[in-house]
Amino acid sequence: MRFEILTIFPGFFAGIFENGILRRALAEELVSVGVHDLRAFTHDRHRTVDDRPFGGGEGMVLKPEPLAEALASLGIQPKAERRAALQSAEKSSPAPSPTPTGQTRVILLSAQGRPFTQAMARELATVERVVLICGRYEGVDERINQLYCDLELSIGDYVLSGGELAAAVVVDAVSRLIPGVLGNEASGEFESFGVADAEITSADDGVPRSQHGAGGLLDYPHFTRPAEFGGLSVPATLLNGDHKEIRRWRREQQLRKTLANRPDLLEGAVLSKEDEKLLEAIREESAGKLR
Ligand code: SAM
Repeated sequence: MRFEILTIFPGFFAGIFENGILRRALAEELVSVGVHDLRAFTHDRHRTVDDRPFGGGEGMVLKPEPLAEALASLGIQPKAERRAALQSAEKSSPAPSPTPTGQTRVILLSAQGRPFTQAMARELATVERVVLICGRYEGVDERINQLYCDLELSIGDYVLSGGELAAAVVVDAVSRLIPGVLGNEASGEFESFGVADAEITSADDGVPRSQHGAGGLLDYPHFTRPAEFGGLSVPATLLNGDHKEIRRWRREQQLRKTLANRPDLLEGAVLSKEDEKLLEAIREESAGKLR
């Protein structure tokens, strides 16, 4: 999987991927990252990448020409040309196979974009190449979005000074979902926003499992040694070695945490009959506390 990052601040990425899981994924070539300086695609003495907005108003806007040139240097044409190339390739080949351009997603990082979610990260992890365009100032000339971008992506409802942090977030969240990156140490399926039990392909058949697939819920709380800390004990259930009971306890905690912190997620979550019952009991318990 290859990420191409287009930015006016390439130095931002120095060191950012040199830790932990990402460092290993890069070293093992499961992931590679290219950082491209937009100023390298300018032709004036001042290497100008921005200009004043048409219509007046505050700030500057990233010019379209350096971005278009940078994209062309990566073999990326405007969407209409990509579509036409794909159609003619499909016509001339009786058994169409995905072309390299069909395996590339061009993404504009933008506060106005669709919210970046774990489901989106899972989808992007199946793509060969992801191109991330980092805006600055007031943003990027809209024609770049219209002509080249498959997706406009926001990492949250707040405004950053540039798309670089957002690009790093996307690289991190997507990379760890690429097969082999997490290794045996963990599985994306058992984390917050993970898939439901039914979709888990790596189930340890016959081996007692103490985790549920998150099914769109938040993760449960984690504890490690010491068993006593700051006057608080680790919940007794986690110490008794009964995997079934641990699973049930963790599921209840997932439901409690999701209800408390992200009740909106419950609407799209995959819930079993037992989950529904537990949730009802938790709701009644909190209503009782309020009375
Ligand atoms: N004028 C823009 C607006 O109000 O939506 C904000 C521009 S922001 C100061 C500069 C750049 O930061 C954007 O072009 C975008 O690339 C990036 N950016 C800011 N907030 C972001 C977010 N929530 N998600 C992704 N990128 C963001």
